[in-house]
Amino acid sequence: MESNNNNIENNNNPINLIVFEFFSGIGGMHEALKFQQNNINIIEIFPFDINQNCNVTYKYNFNITPYNISLESFSINDYENFFKKIKNPHKILWTLSPPCQPFTRQGNQKGLEDNRSKAFINLMNILENTCYLPDYLLLENVKNFENSKATEMLIEILNKKNYDYIQFLINSKEFNVPNSRLRYYIIANKNKKFKNNNKKVIVENWNEFNNINNKSIPTIKDYLNYSPLFESELKDFYISKNILSKESSIAMDIVTLNDNSTICFTKNYTKLMKGSGSILLIGDDNNNDEKKDLISLFGKLRYFTPKEILKFLNFNDNFGFPKEITIKSQYKLLGNSINVKVVENIFKYLFNNNNYIN
Ligand code: SAH
Repeated sequence: MESNNNNIENNNNPINLIVFEFFSGIGGMHEALKFQQNNINIIEIFPFDINQNCNVTYKYNFNITPYNISLESFSINDYENFFKKIKNPHKILWTLSPPCQPFTRQGNQKGLEDNRSKAFINLMNILENTCYLPDYLLLENVKNFENSKATEMLIEILNKKNYDYIQFLINSKEFNVPNSRLRYYIIANKNKKFKNNNKKVIVENWNEFNNINNKSIPTIKDYLNYSPLFESELKDFYISKNILSKESSIAMDIVTLNDNSTICFTKNYTKLMKGSGSILLIGDDNNNDEKKDLISLFGKLRYFTPKEILKFLNFNDNFGFPKEITIKSQYKLLGNSINVKVVENIFKYLFNNNNYIN
């Protein structure tokens, strides 16, 4: 049972919000905001992304076309112009999912010196100088980001502007999802101080932090509502003999329907075998001897489908991709996205008055 104070009704009126969804991708942040109806009332949401596949997928699901402009060249003026049309009183939320490649273990680890960090640096410059400071902020990134100059820069500005903030490292497994996705999150509030906060420590156990005691991860079979009837339509997802005969295939992470964990699905899923996401073995129990002879498993091993990965990431069942987005691109977009349930709960924490000192 959950004994989580975040579930207590927030007695206050919903907060009127203007949302800037920077690096919006396929809209994981927007998806997570849908579950905050009691707490917030979104007046406007402005998504930004330079990737066309992201933007058509976003439009397809939310009926809003993101601003296809590079955040590298987004000026304070551009930002502040958004407020000209908005008359009603409101609070401002910034969500940020800056490109993680400069910070991943597999990447070049150049951090802020990587060109892909320019957009983040530019936004930090806006944060430092605008008079339209966000009231709330949520940033998400890969593990390692917490040790980067980027985090240092963000925290320095938050301190300078008198924000209170909490940092987390959360794995989606903590939310009883049979999928690992360990990510760094930082939430900040400009107006109020968090009750339960030791700024120096990154919270690494969400359930303990929230006094939640619910550890029962379902099997992949139950989680996906798996039925063998689906398999006939999934021929394209079976792994070819050619790939199985490659030496690199040994590194595949093979799971069965009765397991209750899969590794993180990255944007390299189906491209790289090692560490890019789990492979499903249909019909047999996982058995180490068999793993060595992969060819004999031909016809039994397949990739998880984009629809299944959407489910692991807790997008709602209606979420989909437009026809023009190839399966390969879908995997790429999903690999960059977020676990919606995790972020939904972080937002709940951020918007719940009970978590602040009055
Ligand atoms: N949270 C998103 C994922 C973000 S991944 C989701 O749920 O899908 C990072 C995104 O930043 C990518 O979609 C990438 O296209 C975008 N991006 C990278 N550089 C950018 C820039 N300079 N300006 C705007 N968007 C950028």
